[in-house]
Amino acid sequence: MSYISTRGMAPELTFEQAMLTGLARDGGLYVPGEIPQMSADDIAALSGLPYEETAFRIMRPFVGDTFTDDEFEDIIARAYADFGHVARAPLKQLDSNHFLLELFHGPTLAFKDFAMQLIGQMFQVSLARAGERVTIVGATSGDTGSAAIEAFKGLENVDVFILFPHGRVSEVQRRQMTTPVEGNVRALAVDGDFDDCQALVKDMFNDFEFRDRVRLAGVNSINWARVLAQVVYYFSSAVSLGAPYRKVSFTVPTGNFGDIFAGYIAGRMGLPIEQLVVATNQNDILHRCIQGQGYHKGPTVPSISPSMDIQVSSNFERVLFDAYGRDGRAVAQLMDELKQGGFDVSQGALEMLQETFTSGRASEDETRATIRATLEASGELLCPHSAVGVKVANEKRDPAVPMITLATAHPAKFPDAVEAASGVFPPLPPRMADLYERSERLTRIANDLGSVEAFITEQIAN
Ligand SMILES: *Cc1c(COP(=O)(O)O)cnc(C)c1O
Repeated sequence: MSYISTRGMAPELTFEQAMLTGLARDGGLYVPGEIPQMSADDIAALSGLPYEETAFRIMRPFVGDTFTDDEFEDIIARAYADFGHVARAPLKQLDSNHFLLELFHGPTLAFKDFAMQLIGQMFQVSLARAGERVTIVGATSGDTGSAAIEAFKGLENVDVFILFPHGRVSEVQRRQMTTPVEGNVRALAVDGDFDDCQALVKDMFNDFEFRDRVRLAGVNSINWARVLAQVVYYFSSAVSLGAPYRKVSFTVPTGNFGDIFAGYIAGRMGLPIEQLVVATNQNDILHRCIQGQGYHKGPTVPSISPSMDIQVSSNFERVLFDAYGRDGRAVAQLMDELKQGGFDVSQGALEMLQETFTSGRASEDETRATIRATLEASGELLCPHSAVGVKVANEKRDPAVPMITLATAHPAKFPDAVEAASGVFPPLPPRMADLYERSERLTRIANDLGSVEAFITEQIAN
């Protein structure tokens, strides 16, 4: 299995190399050269299996010979051992034919744990075997950073630096990043927004002298291994509801397009999907693009679903690559235009996007109203991101087809917004109830590449 860049100018890599590299050297993202297929029989055989066994069967063909079967089984077992629910990604019924896929039972209460816990274990095995050390740099709007710090803290061969927008993450998110005591993980509060943090990370990867000197590795959702980990729960949930004999639909609260892209890959592997719905908050650049209005950046407007407050949706490049017939040069051209503010999508590419995806958006008021209405109707307290999904799912779904809405975070991760909308304060699960008492450790830093690189250089020398 080889991996190719969406911009067509970087070397082909193995799974292991793509995982350790993150961003390709031509600025593109790695995607599999070809997509492994699951036949109807393969999918039917997943019925009733533990999550870990499903994960092994779905991911195995993508991993090539990077890990032996035994190593890979161990990696998966360790990755999900700390989840608070034995089903890992349980389904809960919301309404007739509408289901919530609860992806928030991991150690930091958001779906990012599925990929990050796995990647932590894969890095560990890979680096220990090679006797190497890497520096992981990531940008976060809150959930990626906490998941990364939780997954990598205390690992021998890895230093982790997480950049987050100062004052723009929830208190729970910040505390999850700043309270771990292990010296190899550090949280940097950047004076800027999430897009600034993401731009700093991309600039570090494009500074080849720095990149090679500190052995930079990325774990943002551009990392292919993260997308791969997320493909699993599309299969496990669909099979629970009758796949491959019955089609299901998914609605995905979307920001960086990683989670929904995993759903797209599940479909390409052979999972019968009726509708794949992109749900955005008021930062609706993806919704507008899929509606045919081109991809044009505006200001990022802070919302109560901050993990979706985004203008540059990194993984969208991966689907554009397919929409443009895997023409790396065309994608590189679009991404150049994006630096100047945006691009229009060609007719052929737009047709592919509209055949593949449905889209919708939820305003702040609609999100709050959905939290209230869902609590009243079903007793479920949704986090604001999941509420964006439920609102759009209700609007788009065909009552005859099971709809699975991804619940991307636990409501206790965003307690103030949830309480303001519903009047109910969501408590933290008992296993993390002392989060507010632990002491914090963070570094304020300017939105400036030189300052961030100097800080990292100095820290890893110690
Ligand atoms: C990251 C995140 C999202 C958006 O997922 P993408 O893969 O970036 O589209 C939605 N909800 C929550 C809670 C998240 O943490």
